[in-house]
Amino acid sequence: MSNKLSYLNDTIVAAATPQGRSGVSVIRISGKDTENIGKIILRSLPKPRSANLKKFYSLEGEILDWGIAVYFPGPKSFTGESVLELHCHGSPVVTSSIINEIVTCGARFAGPGEFSKRAFINEKLDLVQAEAVSDLISSQTEKSAKAAIRSMTGEFSKAVELQKEKLTLLRVHIEAAIDFPDEEIDFLSDKELIARIQACDDSFSNVIKVTSMGRLLRDGYKIVIAGKPNAGKSSLFNLLVGSNSAIVTDIAGTTRDVLRETINIDGIAVELRDTAGFQQNVGVVEKEGIRRARKTLLEADIVLWVNDIAEKKENIPDEISSLNDVKAVLIHNKIDLIADAQKLNKKERNTVYLSAKTGKGLDILLKTIKSIAGHEETEQGTYTARQRHIEALRRSFDHFKLGKKAFYDKKDGAIVAEELRLSHDALCEITGEVTNEEILGRIFSEFCIGK
Ligand code: GDP
Repeated sequence: MSNKLSYLNDTIVAAATPQGRSGVSVIRISGKDTENIGKIILRSLPKPRSANLKKFYSLEGEILDWGIAVYFPGPKSFTGESVLELHCHGSPVVTSSIINEIVTCGARFAGPGEFSKRAFINEKLDLVQAEAVSDLISSQTEKSAKAAIRSMTGEFSKAVELQKEKLTLLRVHIEAAIDFPDEEIDFLSDKELIARIQACDDSFSNVIKVTSMGRLLRDGYKIVIAGKPNAGKSSLFNLLVGSNSAIVTDIAGTTRDVLRETINIDGIAVELRDTAGFQQNVGVVEKEGIRRARKTLLEADIVLWVNDIAEKKENIPDEISSLNDVKAVLIHNKIDLIADAQKLNKKERNTVYLSAKTGKGLDILLKTIKSIAGHEETEQGTYTARQRHIEALRRSFDHFKLGKKAFYDKKDGAIVAEELRLSHDALCEITGEVTNEEILGRIFSEFCIGK
């Protein structure tokens, strides 16, 4: 075991397939009593790593079902412990009677993600790969499923490893210099060292960019529609969703709550939110709607700011365009009401001329969203990632930048070395080499039971 984590190898059991009727249901057992339990339930242990047709017995000798049993002696198994899989008929009654029998034999019901946690602790998977298994199960689009597979097979871990290697080379270089304090070393004249720092800086930016895309692939984009009342926000929401979820009226202030809908734009999962209009001099209910709209804006990845061009050509307000980490698109809506719409200059960046009523301009809007989302196919492909990974990468990069600054400011080499060490530690948190019980508990508790 690589981590000094408390570890139970007691025996756990759970259905690995969802509750409900199905052709087959899979029960998974893992832990030190797997062999004993197998001998009771199956009368004899099956041949390892092969499909064996077996009867499944109760402790009283009654046949509960018959199906396929697969036995994986530890450590060559998913969890690294001895594992037994029973493929029974997919009846909730049969499945739970077999599981209850296994519990009577000494196993306990597994908690969420407990099998994957054991796989991580026994070094069968690193943390990123374990998380990717869960992401694959819950992926919403084909693209995010493919990206989860890339993470699961180690592409993201490899990118983190490469970054760690670059940092390690730098640290070795700097620490070697510190170890010989008598020798007068002028760091800044060391061309190789300067080139290493630059290479590390560039690859940090790149890995953060790719990982941020991966995070959006996993979690989906949050696109918030905002604008003044009656600009056509709900109409645009309905056009994008392709139904009539939002109430469309010409009375200002109809959308007081935040409406949400998930749509799929060419494989990109998008959570679309419609908000109350921003206006002055409003009642208590509208004010609450506006307060919620502002809060929603802070959570957005992209804001579609809707302007009623038939009324007036207005720009995106500064309070929206200056939001951190939010990309804004200006939508001039109701072009069907403009007599000389052809003459409009449509070349402005991230600006779309549209009619939510006729659908004209929708194709350009979707293209704009896709290009902002940055999902042109890259050669290496994208892996899925989580907010936790982005935070650790940013923290690692921040320490690296502090180290770099200390280096160029000709500060003590020990300060540079310390910042690089902290940068390295933050990278290790991603793959789980540096971790603690609390973080692990939080990560695995989001998994499903049986995984
Ligand atoms: P919201 O308050 O911003 O959500 O605006 P709504 O979507 O409720 O629309 C307000 C009014 O403008 C309604 O009467 C809509 O039918 C109308 N409207 C919305 N979009 C368009 C458009 O593209 N063209 C025209 N002619 N009317 C529109």
